[in-house]
Amino acid sequence: MVKILTDTLKTIEHYKNTGPYYNELLDVLEEILILREEYRRNMKSDIFHVDDGLVEKKIAGGLPLIDFSTRNFDLTEAKAYFLRLLEIAGTRAPGETDEMAQKIKDGTIDFGEMIYGYFCGAPGDDSPVASEDEHLDILEMFMEESLRPALEEIAEKYAGVIARSGWSEGYCPICGREPKIGKIRKGERRFLFCNQCGFEWSFTRIKCPFCGNEEQTTLAYFAIEGEERYRVDVCNVCRRYIKMVDVSSGEETNLDVEDIATLHLDMLANEEGYD
Ligand SMILES: [Zn+2]
Ligand SMILES: [Zn+2]
Repeated sequence: MVKILTDTLKTIEHYKNTGPYYNELLDVLEEILILREEYRRNMKSDIFHVDDGLVEKKIAGGLPLIDFSTRNFDLTEAKAYFLRLLEIAGTRAPGETDEMAQKIKDGTIDFGEMIYGYFCGAPGDDSPVASEDEHLDILEMFMEESLRPALEEIAEKYAGVIARSGWSEGYCPICGREPKIGKIRKGERRFLFCNQCGFEWSFTRIKCPFCGNEEQTTLAYFAIEGEERYRVDVCNVCRRYIKMVDVSSGEETNLDVEDIATLHLDMLANEEGYD
């Protein structure tokens, strides 16, 4: 794990040096990843419990393993982690997040309500702190991150079961989130990535993950000259898009990092009328 973290931090440094884009967000991600490692090592209790007896039924029924709408999770550790994450923003823009941290501590802001409001909303719904561009919202990044280590544990535990199950939905089998990015090897299936829990699952090449459209004539992709490693798969039926990283070269790819390093592709897709 530490080796992977070191490699990822190197990749971030590389992107910061080679592409002048999004250095601030990459800095934030760098700090998050270091904190995540520490938090994971010290996690005392599991936030999520999956009933093993129900796993197969859920997967067969297209239901994610974790159902946030039950709202019955112990978020004590996630809250402490979130407050640590706020400090990352606090050191950059002193004062802005202090007020929020204070309100969470004194209970003016109910952390559980805030988290459930965010996680239970259907994708695209307005969350309590939604902004025009969700990608640029550091607070959303922190809210997702506050549950990420606990979700990752579930994702790792059930990865094998899900791989064998032939999960074919376009949303995450662990937490139900829709993907924003994925990876592909030439001539092979795509893998979709969940930013919320870090899970990756195999998905057919010619199909929209969002509406299930399989008509080749209405599925397309575009890429930017000079950045052929990336492409944006679009669906002209539902007007949604997903970013894809070509990993044919075999190098290790961290899709959290790639997602931020390719924010210009999100902007481009949005400009072209894709959500
Ligand atoms: Zn997920
Ligand atoms: Zn579609």
